[in-house]
Amino acid sequence: MSPERLSIPSYAMALAHVASLRSEDPYRKVGAAALDHDNRVIGTAYNGLAPGFNPPPGFWDDRDKRQKFMLHAEVNLCSLFRRGEARTVACTTMPCTACMQMLCAYGIREIYYRDVYHTSDAPEIAALYGVKLVRITDFPAVDRESPDSQVEG
Ligand SMILES: [Zn+2]
Repeated sequence: MSPERLSIPSYAMALAHVASLRSEDPYRKVGAAALDHDNRVIGTAYNGLAPGFNPPPGFWDDRDKRQKFMLHAEVNLCSLFRRGEARTVACTTMPCTACMQMLCAYGIREIYYRDVYHTSDAPEIAALYGVKLVRITDFPAVDRESPDSQVEG
């Protein structure tokens, strides 16, 4: 394998990162990507409100009050496939306990995350069910300050 070639985990995380850029949550933008058993992309998702819902003015001002309404990126991601179809998921933040449970129910075997989420029980759940849960920080992120910096040759 060429040393310049992007690994599958880094590839998935780059996709998750790009998806997170679409989140309208001003405090925590989370993205996720799912790959199938041949490492083909099933889809990407990000945290947000239910499809078609237009929040009233001031909705985003109070983080605690709106938190329960936010659909996590993993929830939106799992709406894109059936159980057993996806093998690998990348999330920009470690899945919360509920999302980790859901990913296990969907038969996900490998989960990569970038940011640690300390209150999540994901590591314990992954260990019990034999799911690979690995932190990935090495991936090509979109650099909005200097869009030409990635251009080679
Ligand atoms: Zn979650």
